[in-house]
Amino acid sequence: MKKNQNEINKIRHSLSHIMAAAVKQLYPNVKFGIGPVIENGFYYDFDFGKEKIDESILLKLEKIMRDLLNDELRFKKEIVSYAQAKKIFKDQPYKLELIEELKKQKKPLSIYRTLRGKEEIFVDLCAGPHVSSTKNIKKDAFKLEKLAGAYWKGDEKRPMLIRIYGLAFNTKKELDDYLHLIEESKKRDHRVLGQQLDLFSFHEEFGPGLVYWHPKGGLIRVIMENFWREAHLKNGYDIVFTPHIGKSDLWKISGHLSFYRENMYSPMKIDEDEYFIKPMNCPFHIQIYKTKVRSYRDLPLRWAELGTVYRYEKAGVLHGLLRVRGFTQDDAHLICTPEQMPNEIKKVLDFSLYILKSFGFNEFSIYLSTKPKDAIGNNKKWVEATKALENAIKKSKLPYKVDKGGGAFYGPKIDIKVKDALGREWQCSTIQFDFNMPEKFEMKYIDKNGKPQQPYMIHRALMGSIERFFGALIEHYAGALPFWLMPTQIKLLPINDKFVPFAYKIKETLEENGLRVGVDESNETISKRIREAELEKIPYIIVLGQKEMESGKLPIREHSNPEIKFLSLEEFIEICKQQIPKPKKL
Ligand code: ZN
Repeated sequence: MKKNQNEINKIRHSLSHIMAAAVKQLYPNVKFGIGPVIENGFYYDFDFGKEKIDESILLKLEKIMRDLLNDELRFKKEIVSYAQAKKIFKDQPYKLELIEELKKQKKPLSIYRTLRGKEEIFVDLCAGPHVSSTKNIKKDAFKLEKLAGAYWKGDEKRPMLIRIYGLAFNTKKELDDYLHLIEESKKRDHRVLGQQLDLFSFHEEFGPGLVYWHPKGGLIRVIMENFWREAHLKNGYDIVFTPHIGKSDLWKISGHLSFYRENMYSPMKIDEDEYFIKPMNCPFHIQIYKTKVRSYRDLPLRWAELGTVYRYEKAGVLHGLLRVRGFTQDDAHLICTPEQMPNEIKKVLDFSLYILKSFGFNEFSIYLSTKPKDAIGNNKKWVEATKALENAIKKSKLPYKVDKGGGAFYGPKIDIKVKDALGREWQCSTIQFDFNMPEKFEMKYIDKNGKPQQPYMIHRALMGSIERFFGALIEHYAGALPFWLMPTQIKLLPINDKFVPFAYKIKETLEENGLRVGVDESNETISKRIREAELEKIPYIIVLGQKEMESGKLPIREHSNPEIKFLSLEEFIEICKQQIPKPKKL
């Protein structure tokens, strides 16, 4: 795997030089920036001076690159002195700047010459590696993708260069698959669907990264939360609510003001004190724990909260519902004795998978992050906790990867990612030990011998953030969420006014059965109304007329299924009810 990755990266990097050679053919005076490998391809930055460049350059360059690849090209590495390099790149100001930097850092310089026979078609200041020959580069497995502006060195005070992106793979099939994935991802983009389906919005001008849930999105959220709450209550959790702000003393004791400060917002002053808006719920749950003396008999405690937290993220990394500044964690803290701990871990992992499966995710990858170098807490606890996490994963029989040393300084953790319909991974659950806060807040319980002991504390979130999970659901289902989550589950279309009362009678019966029903009695044609309901991704559409009234059979049109099924109202209600999951006790 690693070796293949190195090989394809050599190809990608070589193509970036070949693209630069092609640019040089078209624009001999172009100035070269840098041209690294990126995921799925490469780019190169160019300064075209006063030349106007548009997308039409992409096909021209591709053609020249393919022509160049008709001959076998070779890449030749040479180690050069700073003086030699300056001579070779005397007309290239950006390269000269890089040479100066490397000189300051006393780094050795190498150049790569791209050769066609004896002729040099391009030379670059480059650490490599490259393919030695282009004979393994498939001419139909790369494509120039797009142009973008990019400041030299990412610095807005420096010149704006033009970045040309390319995609490159081992085979044409891989390239086609990737292009298909991009197309499909665009269609499923939750930001686009969120607007189309009227689910949520953002209002940059009043604060980026903050989600406004519209009535339809709000209803879906309520359904998700209700399921979540009921499932938790059935599985031994208690539900708590805690404040959104807390005095700086709280965050000082918890340690957040030292290790998490950069993710927290500036404090506000209330009376004479400083308050911070919460980035996490844990310190509050601990205060509840500490309201009385706890005995080993009271444990384990499992306290859950849909806790809305605010964390600072740079504006540049915000992305729809996936990366936001305010979100609601489906948080809980497990507090238990060492003896109870392994079983608690097993239980919470099973519960996590149950919740994720309930929403239709069935493929998981699990990551176990172990003790890092800067860890705190005693080693025995680290060993026990890590073992419990690993044993629980093993019992689940799911594949997992170990991120050695990748744990937080305060404890090991498991992350669960779900795979969506396009095979993309989404981070959801985290099960995280904490050896820091019980110590800092002096959490205790009285053991069998009447001695005070420190309990284990485990943070866990299953969906992770409701916002991100909602985004993942939208993309996974391309907006056509499972029946039980849809704000309107059934739409009735009376063919004309005469059948409107009939439609309302059916609506009433369906609603009595707990279903969410709309009637579209507008004057539009039936086909137009069907189309609209399809765009809204309504799970069932039922057209009502004379025949339906007389026969008692309803023509059921399921979303994106051309086949119409004829069912009695009772049969239809039964089918609907079967699709609504009931939270269960594991
Ligand atoms: Zn926590």
